[in-house]
Amino acid sequence: MMNPVESMQPPLAECIICHKPKLYGIHICGQMICLDCERAIVHADVEDEAYAYYVEEMKRIWLSALSL
Ligand SMILES: [Zn+2]
Repeated sequence: MMNPVESMQPPLAECIICHKPKLYGIHICGQMICLDCERAIVHADVEDEAYAYYVEEMKRIWLSALSL
């Protein structure tokens, strides 16, 4: 049986980009990227400093997924 309290409070997952606990996000390889960061990545310019940061973070996910 489901616990009604638990079903009302889904566990927060930590976003691997901004490291903030978020309710919703995209799950990739067991990691979570929150919607804010996902949007930021999509709209980031390749010239942008933030873009390089996001790419590095994404690489970290792929690498940790591969090493499982
Ligand atoms: Zn985030």
